[in-house]
Amino acid sequence: MKGPVSLVRCPTYEDDTVQAAVRRAVDLIGGIGRYVQPGQRVLLKPNLLLASAPEEAICTHPAVVKAVVRLVQEAGGQPVIGDSPGGPLRKPWLRAVYHRSGMTQVAEETGAELNWDCGETHLSHPAGHLIKAMDVGTYVARADVVISLPKLKTHGLMRFTGAIKNLFGVIPGTAKMGYHARFPQPERFGDMLLDILTLIRPALSLMDAVVGMDGQGPSAGDPFSIGALLASADGIALDVVAATLVGMDVSSIYPLRAAMARGLTTGRVADIEIVGDAFGDFHVSGFRVPDTQAPSDGMTAFLGRLVKRWMVAAPGSNERCIGCGVCVQNCPVNAITLVEKRARMDLDICIRCYCCHELCPERAIDLRKPWLGRLLS
Ligand code: SF4
Ligand code: SF4
Repeated sequence: MKGPVSLVRCPTYEDDTVQAAVRRAVDLIGGIGRYVQPGQRVLLKPNLLLASAPEEAICTHPAVVKAVVRLVQEAGGQPVIGDSPGGPLRKPWLRAVYHRSGMTQVAEETGAELNWDCGETHLSHPAGHLIKAMDVGTYVARADVVISLPKLKTHGLMRFTGAIKNLFGVIPGTAKMGYHARFPQPERFGDMLLDILTLIRPALSLMDAVVGMDGQGPSAGDPFSIGALLASADGIALDVVAATLVGMDVSSIYPLRAAMARGLTTGRVADIEIVGDAFGDFHVSGFRVPDTQAPSDGMTAFLGRLVKRWMVAAPGSNERCIGCGVCVQNCPVNAITLVEKRARMDLDICIRCYCCHELCPERAIDLRKPWLGRLLS
């Protein structure tokens, strides 16, 4: 059996409710003292993708982060809140993200430190399958313990973002683009995420699934109420339980498919020890998965190009585009130009990574599936 994964009902973001549910979720898997020792510097790594308000369900909710800060402080640890949001890792951008997501308030109320260090540290990873070394944020390398705080959301490229995908945020700023360019196939990108997981090795992952996001996640979908918190030292098992909880096919999620290929999970909830509230008591229905599908590694280049052109959802700007250029700056293959203050994508160059869709502050990029893809899906 893998896990254990704790599953705890948490219907609202009201502070006392979240505090009690977080404590219960962690107590069920040994208590915070099992993961944090007095004096340790503990990085709390929420999903802080964009400067967005808690009710938009893009970032990990501040009530969850605050509850974990309190637990870490009780254990004698020094909590530091940090992430590298989409876009360049710069202080003004961090300030905007911290402020809008509610992290500034968490820090003020609890005394937790916010990370402002934008430096990079090179780490080797001899055991990595695809990556033998990588640059991560210095604030990550300085931590004695990492606690990952993912948000349950759909994801255009990976189809689901949870404990595994959340760790992509340790790659600083626009360096993330290089990974998209280097691993354009979702199978390999998902496998690469496992290398980040095995390098960073968070002691604990605690997922905010109180209100997740379905549809066109991770930023342009809709808030979706689930009413759960999940916690585990095993981020892969946690993702299997969370994805199954919302009715997703685990084998359609690229990082989990890679984990299955590596023998790290069977992908079945039945093979995971779940503690806490009964899995069957959560009745989640109507969770919409993203309408994206990418060419597979196994295809020839020619077939892959055909599939990409005729079946895979492609990005396109809509009338909400204000010509801000964020998508241009974050496209790993320079497939976007501004024409008369509106983003235009060169779909022959585009590798369908959906970074533009993810990072557009105006929700001005739609993912449009070609007619053949719609017909066959
Ligand atoms: S599509 Fe979005 S990110 Fe790109 S220029 Fe338009 S508003 Fe900015
Ligand atoms: S246009 Fe958008 S989806 Fe295509 S490669 Fe650039 S960022 Fe990725």
